[in-house]
Amino acid sequence: MFWEKDIETIEKDQLAKLQLERLQKTVEGASRSSYYGKIFKERRIFADDIRTLSDLAKIPLTNKDDLLEEWPYGFLSTPKDDIVRMHSSSGTTGRATVIFHTQSDIDRWTDQLARCMYMAGMRKSDVFQNMMTYALFTGGLGFHYGAEKLGAMVIPAGPGNSKRQIRLMQDFDTTVIHIIPSYALHLTTVFEEVGVDPKQDTRLRMAFIGAEPHSGKMRKRIETFYGVKVFNSYGLSEMSGPGVAFECPCQNGMHIWEDAYIVEMINPDTLEPVPDGDEGELVLTTLNREGMPILRYRTKDLTRIIPGECPCGRTHRRIERIKGRTDDMMILKGVNIFPIQIEKKLMDIPGVGNNFHIILERKDFSDDMIIKVEVGREYFTGDLKQLEGLRRTIVNELKSDILITPRVDLVEPDSLPKTEGKAKRVIDNRED
Ligand code: AMP
Ligand code: ZN
Repeated sequence: MFWEKDIETIEKDQLAKLQLERLQKTVEGASRSSYYGKIFKERRIFADDIRTLSDLAKIPLTNKDDLLEEWPYGFLSTPKDDIVRMHSSSGTTGRATVIFHTQSDIDRWTDQLARCMYMAGMRKSDVFQNMMTYALFTGGLGFHYGAEKLGAMVIPAGPGNSKRQIRLMQDFDTTVIHIIPSYALHLTTVFEEVGVDPKQDTRLRMAFIGAEPHSGKMRKRIETFYGVKVFNSYGLSEMSGPGVAFECPCQNGMHIWEDAYIVEMINPDTLEPVPDGDEGELVLTTLNREGMPILRYRTKDLTRIIPGECPCGRTHRRIERIKGRTDDMMILKGVNIFPIQIEKKLMDIPGVGNNFHIILERKDFSDDMIIKVEVGREYFTGDLKQLEGLRRTIVNELKSDILITPRVDLVEPDSLPKTEGKAKRVIDNRED
């Protein structure tokens, strides 16, 4: 059941002890970077000042802008010669943040991923098809190394080339896939096109999905079509990548590995801590990274700690599925809306296909939301009355949830532009 039982089921007081030791070492290491060296000097913070875990609060929060201002080497805490790999975030605008790893950083991250996959139930006998980008993005290589460490056979398929993906699954008896949720839904249409039913014609039994927000309904759609159990995987490049938090077989939240990170939850407006159970922005401190330790990093991801113990026996706390990023939030006519709210509603309506886009426009000082929704293949029969009924249902369902009335345009199945990586759901044409 466990990859590293002692660590996964560690008693709370032992965990606190381990965290403190690692935190002290991390702060000491960080002080050698030019960024933290400068900050610590300005604020008269000394590594010895960290005597308890609550002393972490003496250190200021770090955010993406700090990483960008110090780009590329300002956070580097070891000599450059000790670095064996770099990765970067998948940021599509502006400069991406860069993270540097020593061999020991890579080894620990690899173990973290093996732990996640083993926890979900993957074993040595599995064939693992990794459909994530193998490049600067962390999703591909992170899982690749973890799966090899676990001993599974890895098919480094990378993303795209959908027909070949299906052929690989059939030819090599793939049992586990790692895939971006929006791509998993897109792939369903290709399965239909080539006449392959993953439930009958493949040996798939499990899928790991992550890298972008998705609802429980979307997970359910993927589970139903593929006939697999789907596990949520969370991570971000600044914290090494995937493997930060992962679902166990109980599937009630993701265990966040507290031997590797100190977890804080804050109110993103006041920056005050919020108690377990309340929603907030996740703030993380790396505890076992040498190359580029980051202290109190504001992830911008909104979630909450699920109070209580998990029946699986792991003592690391659980976070709820990510609701969205603070910078994903749309404000329309004074109402705050997250794309995932819209996705959740849409995925529940029979007749709605696999993709949608949200377009925001401003006319005469008034904001409008236009939602382009793909119609499900089986619904796309040319019956206009039926389509109009579907359109109206979507408007009404959304109106009751997001409190504004969007314009809904139905479009043909599989017609909206797709990206190979994370889905881009919102197109904001409003000018500041
Ligand atoms: P990157 O640094 O490019 O890997 O992007 C990391 C970001 O992707 C995170 O901060 C989240 O906003 C998002 N993300 C990653 N995994 C998940 C997940 N399982 N659910 C929701 N969002 C996720
Ligand atoms: Zn559990």
